[in-house]
Amino acid sequence: MAQTIPVAVSGPFPRSLDYLPPGADTPPVVGARVRVPLGRRQMVGMVTGPPRDPGLAGHRLRQISQVLDVQPLLDSELLGLISWSARYYHHPIGDCIATALPARLRQGYPAEPASETRWQLTPAGDEADIEALRRRAPRQATLLDALRSTDDLPAGQLAGLGGDARGALQRLVERGYATAVERADYGLITGRGTEGAPTLNPEQAQAASALQPGAGHQVTLVDGVTGSGKTEVYLDVIARATAMGLQSLVIVPEIGLTPQLVSRFQARLSAKIAVLHSGLADGERLNAWLAAGSGAADVIIGTRSAVFAPLRRPGLIIVDEEHDASLKQQEGFRYSARDLAVMRAHRLECPIAMGTATPSLESLANARAGRYAHYRLTERAGNARPPQLRLLDMRGQPTTEGLSAPLLGTVRQHLDNGGQVLLFLNRRGFSPTLICHECGWLAECDRCDARYTYHRGRSRLHCHHCDRETPVPSVCPSCNSVDLRPLGLGTERIEGALQTALPDTPMVRIDRDSTRQRGRFEQHMAAAQRGEARLLLGTQMLAKGHHLPAVTLVAIIDADQGLFGADFRSPERLAQLVIQVAGRAGRAERAGEVVIQTHQPEHPLLQTLIHGGYPAFAEAALTEREAAGLPPTRAMALIRAEAPGQTPPLNFLKAAAATLPTDSSVEVLGPYPSPMERRAGRYRAQLMLQANQRGTLQALLTDWLPGVSALPMARRVRWSVDVDPAEML
Ligand code: ADP
Ligand code: ZN
Ligand code: ZN
Repeated sequence: MAQTIPVAVSGPFPRSLDYLPPGADTPPVVGARVRVPLGRRQMVGMVTGPPRDPGLAGHRLRQISQVLDVQPLLDSELLGLISWSARYYHHPIGDCIATALPARLRQGYPAEPASETRWQLTPAGDEADIEALRRRAPRQATLLDALRSTDDLPAGQLAGLGGDARGALQRLVERGYATAVERADYGLITGRGTEGAPTLNPEQAQAASALQPGAGHQVTLVDGVTGSGKTEVYLDVIARATAMGLQSLVIVPEIGLTPQLVSRFQARLSAKIAVLHSGLADGERLNAWLAAGSGAADVIIGTRSAVFAPLRRPGLIIVDEEHDASLKQQEGFRYSARDLAVMRAHRLECPIAMGTATPSLESLANARAGRYAHYRLTERAGNARPPQLRLLDMRGQPTTEGLSAPLLGTVRQHLDNGGQVLLFLNRRGFSPTLICHECGWLAECDRCDARYTYHRGRSRLHCHHCDRETPVPSVCPSCNSVDLRPLGLGTERIEGALQTALPDTPMVRIDRDSTRQRGRFEQHMAAAQRGEARLLLGTQMLAKGHHLPAVTLVAIIDADQGLFGADFRSPERLAQLVIQVAGRAGRAERAGEVVIQTHQPEHPLLQTLIHGGYPAFAEAALTEREAAGLPPTRAMALIRAEAPGQTPPLNFLKAAAATLPTDSSVEVLGPYPSPMERRAGRYRAQLMLQANQRGTLQALLTDWLPGVSALPMARRVRWSVDVDPAEML
C-alpha cells in the first residue's frame, strides 16, 4: 500500500492527518505547505514528517492537491519547537502552526518578500571611458559615477540626481553599461550604530559577561530596578552577537514595543532590524518574518508570537519584562512566550536573558533552584536616586472624587516646585458602576456577570468583558427615577476632578479610550516627555517602560482594588504594578516620591513592599505559595468549558473528572463555576489539576485527554486546556 504524508491542518485535530502524495510530483519536503482537501474545502496545511505507512484507514485516503513550497518554510528546529508546544499545551498541532505563521502564509501566498528594482553596473559600464562620456552626455556620466561607487542603486534614488535621470539611465542601459536587478525588499530598519555605548557599571558588566552568544545554553535572569540599565545590557550582548554574525531575537510585551525602543536600537546597533507585531499590515509582517528566516535581519524585535520567528543564524534570545501577563496568550493556543523562549534557547543551545524589575515568582523559583543564573542590578544608572515609597492612610480623610486632601496638597507642592506628577489608576471610564439612588438598581451587562462601566464623555455604558455597549438610560429601568449616579472611580472621572482642583495645569490622560486614534498614544507620551503636560493621568499604559525623567511624584490612587482579587496572583500583580509605576519617578537628578492611597495601611503585603521592596515581597509571596501548594511550587492545569446553558459545562467537566485515574498523585479540584461565571452570554466552569511534578501532570494529561475528547458531552460545550494558567478568571 502507498505511503502517506502527515499534514497538519487547522482544526480540532490533535495530530497531523494522512494524505496521499500529489500526482506524479515528488513528495513535498517536511516543513513545506501544501493544499489539501478537507470535507468540501481546500485547506492550507503543513507537512510535519516524512512519508509513513498509513494506519488502519477507516476512510478513503485523499490526495494532496498542490505543493506550495519547494523549500521547507519551517526548518526542523522551529517545527520541532511548535510540535513540542502542541504536546505541552495539549493544543491541536495545526492551530499551533497557524499561530506561528504570518496571515499571508496561512492563506497560501508565496513565501516571497516584496521586491524592488535596483540598477547595477555591468562589466562594460565598468570599463567605459567616462571622461569621453562626460563631454558628450554629462548626466549619463554622473549616473555612471554613482553606479560605480555603490553595489546597486534603488530606482527611488534616481530622482535625487536631478534632471531627466530616468532618460539618462535608459541611455546607459541601451549602451549596455547598466542593468536592472530585482532585490528583495524586506522593509528592514537599518541600524546606524552611530551612538556610542556608555561604559557599563560593574553590575551591568557582570550580567553582560554571563551572556555569551555562541557559548551554549544558559538562562540569565537580569533582575534590575527600573532605570538600572537592563536595556544597556541587552544592547551590549546584541552588539556582540551581531559582530559574530549571529541573530538576536528580542521579545517584549505588546505595550513595551514602542517607537522609542526601536529608535534606541537603531541609534546604537550597526544591524538590520526587523520588527514583528500585530499592528503591522499583512505584507509588512510577512516581510519581517521572511527577513528573520532568510537571515537578512540581524535583530528581530517582536511581541508574543515572535517567539516563533524563524531564525537562520540564531545566537541569542532576550525576553524583556518577563513578568508581564501579556506574554501568555489567553485564548485558543494558550502558550507562554516566555516559557517557550526558554525552551527554544535550550533547543538552540543559545543563551537567553530575561529582564525585569519585578521578576515573576516562577522565574525567582527557578533562580532559587539554581536553574537560572540570577544577576541583580541594584543601582540606577547616572545620578538617578531610587524613589521613596509612602502609604497614605485614606481612612477618615476628606476626599474629592477619590483624591484625598493630603494627596492634593502633595500634588500642588510638586507642581509648584516645577515637578511633573503622574497619577495612576488602573481603571478607565468614568465609573465602574452606575447605580439608581432611589432603588439600588445597577446597570449590569446582560451577557456577563459584570457591571457596565460608565463612560460619560461618550455617554455610553460599556462592558469591558464582552465589549457590549449601550446608551445610558435617562431614567432607572426599574423605578423610573432620574437619579442615576456613577459609583466608584475611573480615569475619566479623576480627570474631571483634577481639572476642577488644579485649573490651568496642562494635563494628559493616557488610557485605551484616550488613545484610540492612531498616533494619539505617541502624541500624548511625547507631550509628557517634553514636560508640556505637568499632570499625567493614566492606566497601566502609562506604567510600563517609558522614561519620564521630569516626574517627581507618582500617586497610586487606589491600591485597595488589587489587594482582594479573586485570582491567587492578584497580590503579585499589584506589587509588580506598584513597583513599575513607582519606577517612572525620579529617573533624572531629582529623587522621586511615591504615594500609595489605601484604606488598608496595615496590610502585610503593602507593609512588606514599602519596607523591604519587591525582593522582600517576592520572598514572602513564594513562601505563601509553597504553604498553599500553588504554582510555582506545583504545576497546574485548568480544563475550561463553556456553553450557552449553565449545566452543560459543569456536567461535561464532571464526566471528564469521573474518567480520571484514581491512583494518580494529581490533585483534582472542582469542577466549579469560574469566578466570573457568565461572560459574553456563555456560562463557564473549570476543573483544576495540580501535581508536585510537571512530568506527572503532563503524563496524566497525555493519557487522559483523548478520552475526554471522545465523551459525548464534549460536543455540547466549547472546552480547552490551559497549562500553567496565568489567570484564573
Ligand atoms: P532599564 O532598561 O533598566 O529601565 P535603561 O537601560 O533604559 O534601564 O537605562 C536607564 C537610563 O540610564 C538610560 O538613559 C540609559 O542610557 C542610562 N544608562 C544605563 N546604563 C548606563 C551606564 N552604564 N552609564 C551611563 N548611563 C547609563
Ligand atoms: Zn431605580
Ligand atoms: Zn458583558
